[in-house]
Amino acid sequence: MSSSRTGIEWTDKTWNPTTGCTKVSPGCRYCYAEALTKRFSKSFPQGFEMTLHPERLEQPLHWRTPSRIFVNSMSDLFHEDVPFSYLQEIFRIMQETPWHVYQILTKRDQRLVELMPKLNWADNIWMGVSVESQAYTHRIDALRQIPSVVRFLSCEPLLSSLQLNLEGIDWVIVGGESGFNHRPINPEWVRDILQQTQEQKVAFFFKQWGGNHPKAGGNLLDGFTWEQMPPAWDIHKLNFGQKKNSKQHKSRLEQNSLVSAK
Ligand code: SF4
Repeated sequence: MSSSRTGIEWTDKTWNPTTGCTKVSPGCRYCYAEALTKRFSKSFPQGFEMTLHPERLEQPLHWRTPSRIFVNSMSDLFHEDVPFSYLQEIFRIMQETPWHVYQILTKRDQRLVELMPKLNWADNIWMGVSVESQAYTHRIDALRQIPSVVRFLSCEPLLSSLQLNLEGIDWVIVGGESGFNHRPINPEWVRDILQQTQEQKVAFFFKQWGGNHPKAGGNLLDGFTWEQMPPAWDIHKLNFGQKKNSKQHKSRLEQNSLVSAK
């Protein structure tokens, strides 16, 4: 299963030069990537074991439409079993394709900080950390050390209220858990994070309430959708355009102006 299509609202494509992972914190308990490897077991003969896919390394070179690309939706790029030389190759491809924006998300903040000085942080790399509960806000301190053009948080699955210091952070994504075992999200937690992003002037994206499947609860928060993107995305689009996605491009620009009432 190497298709780049995705239903993830804050990105256009996925690129998985590795698949598989191991669990590190409570947000991993019902990992959707692991669930997909079980559901589509023929496409994942190695199951959820960390597997390198060097044949996929050059895929983005062939994607000509400027896109937001989520790197490793099926894994964690900073997993300890991803060799440094392989990481360097991934960073080289990202640098060689400046028409794309790459969105990397990790829960391995220690390895991220350790390797940060040895990696080339091109202007099209956005770096993010997952923060599912207050106990993991230390990942944000690690993220602040990364010289990426955009630093973002994915608070999904949101498992507690969060008090966030958003200094140096450009974008916060929030979402509830999906799947039959989903842990419920409290709407007050979401309203509170929204308020903190507004006070600290950070873009806010509410992905979903969650439920038995990702779209079960929709994404309306008190009658509004919140799908803001960091300003760097508009700048990137101005620089590189999005010819094939012009309609989508227009609607996203409208959304970025703040909110769209339903
Ligand atoms: S770090 Fe991400 S991919 Fe890895 S087990 Fe946890 S949720 Fe799944």
